[in-house]
Amino acid sequence: MADHNVSDSRRRWLQHAGAGLAVAVGSGTAVAAETAATATPGAAQGGVRDPRAGYPRAPFPEQTQPWPGLAGKMTPRPDHGGQSYRGSGRLAGRKALITGGDSGLGRATAIAFAREGADVAINYLPAEESDAREVAQYIQQAGRKAVLLPGDIRDEPFCRQLVASAVRELGGLDILVNNAGRQQSHDSILDITTEQFDWTFKTNVYAMFWITKAAIPHLPAGAAIINTSSVNATDPSENLLDYAATKATITNFTKGLAKQMASKGIRVNAVAPGPFWTPLQVSGGQTMAKLKAFGSDTPMQRPGQPAEIAPLYVSLASSEASYVTGQVFGASGGKGNP
Ligand code: NAD
Ligand code: MG
Repeated sequence: MADHNVSDSRRRWLQHAGAGLAVAVGSGTAVAAETAATATPGAAQGGVRDPRAGYPRAPFPEQTQPWPGLAGKMTPRPDHGGQSYRGSGRLAGRKALITGGDSGLGRATAIAFAREGADVAINYLPAEESDAREVAQYIQQAGRKAVLLPGDIRDEPFCRQLVASAVRELGGLDILVNNAGRQQSHDSILDITTEQFDWTFKTNVYAMFWITKAAIPHLPAGAAIINTSSVNATDPSENLLDYAATKATITNFTKGLAKQMASKGIRVNAVAPGPFWTPLQVSGGQTMAKLKAFGSDTPMQRPGQPAEIAPLYVSLASSEASYVTGQVFGASGGKGNP
């Protein structure tokens, strides 16, 4: 796994911190305890584990947070694999930028990437600083460099600056994970304002376009782009009209871009999650009724934990998957198509 010790990595990282948008993280070594939501390790490799056992399931306690929400304030706390994910050098020496890397799927991916040997830059909103700093500590504890790049990706100049900062701080870029997302539940199309519609498309579609466009000139042959779609791309929830439409766009964009990028040796794929227990869902992403029953309508009868999807991102980023491009991979507890 790690080929650098933690103190070396921290020293190298601190040498870079403060430049550009990078934010220095406190020198404390203890990562705030990530209470695994699960009774037993969530994604521990090796051995046989019953996917039905030990994972939280409905009914979930009523809860709501102001958008964008914090993983640290959810009940139960999501399992991001902090206690369970074990790397095996699959991404040794790689350099990754992950949007929405502070919480949820992006956070689980950041932890897994670092434990697989990658240096990781994450983008998130300033309001999510506390979640982001926990992620940075996990990355550093894996002996890798963590770069924190807060900012709002609805802004095109910021997206260009984000990529430039990641390239500068990481010394290059060969994995881009477009994962940040905006999801707000509205019962009727009549309740979706133009501002809301625009917000959702700016975050989920335009930012992916801007960040990808800025990143491509920096990506070497062998690089991987991974977008986060959803089961909503093919089976839209009635209360997520604008969101679901962005996810269909992301899937389509992924397949088209993959065709374009093959000649450059850059692979482009998407992950399409079903219901996952993340801040998105408790900060306006679901009706309270759906939240309390979250995931119970899947064959697995529970939502996924972020740790359970990170291995897909790892596989798609890894050069082992060299013939895999233009594809969508699902993790949905058995319901819906990618
Ligand atoms: P999450 O809330 O943990 O992550 C979403 C992140 O998006 C936030 O942490 C935030 O940093 C980022 N973000 C939102 N607006 C932003 C902006 N304007 N500028 C910068 N960053 C911004 O929730 P998650 O569920 O892990 O979401 C990650 C991705 O997974 C999203 O694309 C989401 O649509 C997708 N997804 C989630 C589910 C699910 O059930 N949780 C299902 C399908 C797809
Ligand atoms: Mg977050």
